[in-house]
Amino acid sequence: MSTGRTRAVRLTRWGGPPELTEVPRPSPTGEEVLIEVEAAGLCRSDLHVIDAPPGALPYRLPFTLGHETAGRVVERGPLATGPGVGERVVVYGPWGCGSCARCAAGADNYCDRRAALDADRVGTGAGLGRDGGMADLLLVPSGRLLVPVGDLPAVQAAPLSDAGLTACHAIETVRGALGEDACVVVIGVGGLGHLAVQLLRATTTARVLAVDVREEALALAERCGAHFGTLLRPGTAADLRSRTGGVGAAAVLDFVGGRSSLELAVDVLRPGGELAVVGSGGGELTVRKPGALPPGTRISLPFWGTLPELRTVVALARDGVLRVEVEQFPLSEAPQALARLRSGEVRGRAVLVPD
Ligand code: NAD
Ligand code: ZN
Ligand code: ZN
Repeated sequence: MSTGRTRAVRLTRWGGPPELTEVPRPSPTGEEVLIEVEAAGLCRSDLHVIDAPPGALPYRLPFTLGHETAGRVVERGPLATGPGVGERVVVYGPWGCGSCARCAAGADNYCDRRAALDADRVGTGAGLGRDGGMADLLLVPSGRLLVPVGDLPAVQAAPLSDAGLTACHAIETVRGALGEDACVVVIGVGGLGHLAVQLLRATTTARVLAVDVREEALALAERCGAHFGTLLRPGTAADLRSRTGGVGAAAVLDFVGGRSSLELAVDVLRPGGELAVVGSGGGELTVRKPGALPPGTRISLPFWGTLPELRTVVALARDGVLRVEVEQFPLSEAPQALARLRSGEVRGRAVLVPD
């Protein structure tokens, strides 16, 4: 079983482009589990990683990209636990130390040993410094990191492990502000944002106001259940504010994290509101008292999500509550798919399927 070669989309140098190459077939030892990949999602974070200058990220090159993976268990190490051979699963992507209090609770996204792991350049998880899922096969460190998906189509399951999970975790972070009649602004209705809109509609009573720079994304927001959608332009903050009855938004989920989106967030927040900055768009906020931020503002920087939250989004998807808008590409067309993501043309999530 452990001979032969297999394909993988590898980042071999900072700045890219990633290369579709052949690598030796991985073989699970110890607790490891080998997954035959059925689908791997593309995230804007992949572009941030590819574009990072040398030394900016604590990762060693080369590694295989892909942190949103679904597939089938094909081989298990002798000490492996969890799903058995043949089971279809989605892979929890943040890989922490596995033994601290946070990891033990399934919150590897906030592993207490992260700083030490980074110092050793171990990587943040699948496709982020460790070999990920844009490949025919993915070696997962432990069966603990797998969530069964039953007969959920793989292209639906894969994006749940980041786009769905991160959106869910961001909403949990601000949920305290989302009481009856609250308004929530979602900025950026791409891979993460369109699932956030669906999750907000399914799990809160809040009015959902969506913002994007593309008409097509606003159409997607409407199909996902947003009550209102608008392009980002000079009058947008005032427009959104009037839609909240003049008081402002109880919460803003910023899936862009750029200068213009953060400016908008500050302009529409209600005093005592919640701002979750999810996007890594390079924008900066000044925190000063008194200052531009409304009094009582709480700011969070949610990162990915927890294993229990991944189980929740998988259950919602299996119940038909959550539906990923997918653009499907064969694995061999990974460069074209990444180029389409970069040009801002993808509707929902681009997903690679081994061909
Ligand atoms: P995406 O490209 O699929 O979606 C981004 C959307 O934002 C697009 O619809 C785009 O048109 C829109 N947009 C761009 N600039 C805008 C602006 N100024 N105002 C309003 N809308 C704008 O990206 P994605 O994969 O959904 O990722 C979104 C961001 O979240 C990225 O920065 C990514 O790196 C980050 N991310 C963070 C985490 C985390 O754990 N915090 C996890 C995954 C992704
Ligand atoms: Zn991602
Ligand atoms: Zn840990």
